Amino acid sequence: MDTTMDDGIIRRIRALNQRVEQLQKEGLYFYNQPITELRGGSKVLVNGREMGMYASYSYLGLVGHPRINQAAKAAIDRYGTGTHGVRTLAGSLTIHCELEETIAEFKRAESAITYSSGYVTNLTVVSTLVGRDDYVISDKLNHASIVDGCLMSGAKFLRFRHNDMQALEDRLMHIPAEAGKLVIADAVFSMDGDMINLPKMVEICRKYRAWLMIDEAHSVGVLGKTGRGIEEHFGMEGSIDLKMGTLSKTIPSVGGYVAGNKSLINYLRHASRAYIFSAALPPAQAAASNEAFKVILDEPWRVENLKTNTQQFITGLKARGFDTMLTETAIVPVLCGSDEIAFALTRYSQERGIFVLPVVSPAVPVGLARLRATITATHEANEIEGAMNIIEQAAKAVGMFN
Ligand code: PMP
Repeated sequence: MDTTMDDGIIRRIRALNQRVEQLQKEGLYFYNQPITELRGGSKVLVNGREMGMYASYSYLGLVGHPRINQAAKAAIDRYGTGTHGVRTLAGSLTIHCELEETIAEFKRAESAITYSSGYVTNLTVVSTLVGRDDYVISDKLNHASIVDGCLMSGAKFLRFRHNDMQALEDRLMHIPAEAGKLVIADAVFSMDGDMINLPKMVEICRKYRAWLMIDEAHSVGVLGKTGRGIEEHFGMEGSIDLKMGTLSKTIPSVGGYVAGNKSLINYLRHASRAYIFSAALPPAQAAASNEAFKVILDEPWRVENLKTNTQQFITGLKARGFDTMLTETAIVPVLCGSDEIAFALTRYSQERGIFVLPVVSPAVPVGLARLRATITATHEANEIEGAMNIIEQAAKAVGMFN
């Protein structure tokens, strides 16, 4: 690359690099820190220091679970470390089929299909299902992978105010009755931790004959008595057409899936480009995922602990004067307002052994910067109390309560 060039691309690269370098200079860059070691579900070793982990997506503490590790090792011994390519050709292994059956059973659906990441799942499923003549209607706070899937699809892309069912109905009302319509939302919103109003959404989708797709990245293992997700939480089994999820959060692996009826899944298996043109999940990751769904059902105390810990964390932070927005789940935003306060709060907390991370614009709107803390099933009550005390001291130290 000619470094004397000065075009839009160079300017964009330079601007971002300058922002990162400035933050690094001020000691306010917290991203991409390598974790050296996991110590149980709730502690990690970072830069030679043991820290309480409050930024993990491993909601049930399944990373490193002996049964899951063992399943992954056995899969390597049996199949090796890669596949022979894409699923459609020589890449399908029996472990992929077993995993898809396990997911279908867990999600109480007829069938399921897996892809190599959650991000890719949203891209490919949305863009395979809708096209130029269709409409896709998306909650304004949906995950980036859904937004990208909607844009890629070429369908008419409408958004509605976050979790506002009247706004959703207003959108649907003006779409021609005969047009294909796909409504999409996160079950649990990844920055705010709040839950979509599924009962009302299902009612509206039925009224306007729209397909409903729900991204359960942060709801599997988290919602419902046995951790099966948002349908179980609301007692509405069978009400979502496409139940999408990832294998990278509660499930300690990598990959994504959609569960739904047989003809839909068969269609995706023969039409979605990420399935046809991208390599199959590695055997160890497929086997780990398969075992993890079983562990969730065999160890129900994990889902129960997560609910207790979540309650303790949200209630405790509120009692200390924090604004945790509308969260009801294991994702707990601690609203700071400015990026500077969020960075300062993070630095203070990390210096005192609490691994939390800030989320700032453009990931969230300007003025709504926050710590985005997460809680897991494996935190002890006294650890949670200690972490909250440190965050409170941090807030006082940076003048947040003035
Ligand atoms: N959907 C949501 C709601 C997410 O939070 C994420 C990951 N942050 C994804 C999809 C993408 O999943 P993956 O990381 O498995 O690619």
